Amino acid sequence: MAKILCVLYPDPVTGYPPVYARDSLPVIDGYPDGQTLPTPSAIDFTPGELLGCVSGELGLRRYLEAQGHELVVTSDKDGPDSVFEKELPDADVVISQPFWPAYLSAERIAKAPKLKLALTAGIGSDHVDLDAAIKAGITVAEVTYCNSISVAEHAVMQILALVRNYLPSHQWVVDGGWNIADSVERAYDLEGLDVGIIAAGRIGQAVLRRLKPFDVRLHYFDTRRLPAEVEEELGLTYHPDVQSLVRAVDIVDIHAPLHPKTYHLFDANLINSMRRGSYIVNTARAEITVQEDIVKALESGQLAGYAGDVWYPQPPAPDHPWRTMPHEAMTPHVSGTTLSAQARYAAGTREILEDFFGGHPIRDEYLIVEGGQLAGTGAKSYTADGSASPGAGT
Ligand code: NDP
Repeated sequence: MAKILCVLYPDPVTGYPPVYARDSLPVIDGYPDGQTLPTPSAIDFTPGELLGCVSGELGLRRYLEAQGHELVVTSDKDGPDSVFEKELPDADVVISQPFWPAYLSAERIAKAPKLKLALTAGIGSDHVDLDAAIKAGITVAEVTYCNSISVAEHAVMQILALVRNYLPSHQWVVDGGWNIADSVERAYDLEGLDVGIIAAGRIGQAVLRRLKPFDVRLHYFDTRRLPAEVEEELGLTYHPDVQSLVRAVDIVDIHAPLHPKTYHLFDANLINSMRRGSYIVNTARAEITVQEDIVKALESGQLAGYAGDVWYPQPPAPDHPWRTMPHEAMTPHVSGTTLSAQARYAAGTREILEDFFGGHPIRDEYLIVEGGQLAGTGAKSYTADGSASPGAGT
């Protein structure tokens, strides 16, 4: 019998929904690169339910308890008196999510001698100190691709929201106004603008494909260049470094992982080298930017807008400057946890648990750390020391 400690975001303030806006989810056949959707032996939820919050329990309780395991679910994750800290010492498995991360620091890992699996119900395991996990022999796994398209759609939405000045225009409606001039004094068409994507991985490529029909000029930088046929198909201009890219575009959209090379990349120097009135959308990790430099650039007009869904820390304090800076279109960390994404990451979490408890290998593409080293996707996308960078855990 194992103890599974699961940290999920709190339920809606209005309570767990008795009914949903739509009756079903569309059936998706697979992921764009051919990777198959999660394949658990069964699921105990209806796709479309709210699974990522405490009462949703990722749809795991019936399955885990039928196997004789103990499931503890909480949203109380921070500080020494939190439920998470109290339950951690005898946990065999910790499940957490980037949206509401239970930071598995080296100190916490040292307090969890039984811990064998740290499972991210989503993508992005930088809330886990990977170096400490490697040393402790803990397997780290995440549900690769489960919400990549969800994030890409969110990024496209936020690009449009900024350029079209959507949120301030909407606010005039809510406030009873009909202020056309106030609404459009900062509104532009996306058509014809130069858009630069930093990192053309799963999410970045999905954004490039979704932006192409807007007749924008697409640019990108990635440490690895895309095949020539993809560049040609999408009409991409490749830049050899971030500095070259940001000077050539009106909108920068960030999809790179957080590691020492990207930590605080967008500082005042880089931002000031951009075209005046540029926009930044960042759904990757907040610490890729210098928080106060973003605020100053928005105040001075160097940046025309900033949007994203990633913050540091999470949740941010009520007086976090990004809540009140001008020309922002921020959301909480929600892009990867639509009801559609939840069905996939809940199924993927169950698949990983079934393999783990059944003694079967976890899919290579889900693995970040295994057997005391980076493994699978982790060996391609993570650095052990990167996770321990000052920005780890956004
Ligand atoms: P992928 O691993 O598919 O792609 C990341 C790409 O970034 C790879 O092509 C990688 O190249 C490239 N890269 C690595 N370092 C750099 C660098 N310094 N500069 C430019 N490119 C670089 O990841 P995803 O597209 O799935 O996710 C991207 C990021 O988005 C994640 O790391 C995560 O932080 C964030 N994310 C956010 C979510 C949210 O809810 N907001 C949800 C999911 C992810 P190479 O392969 O050569 O290393």
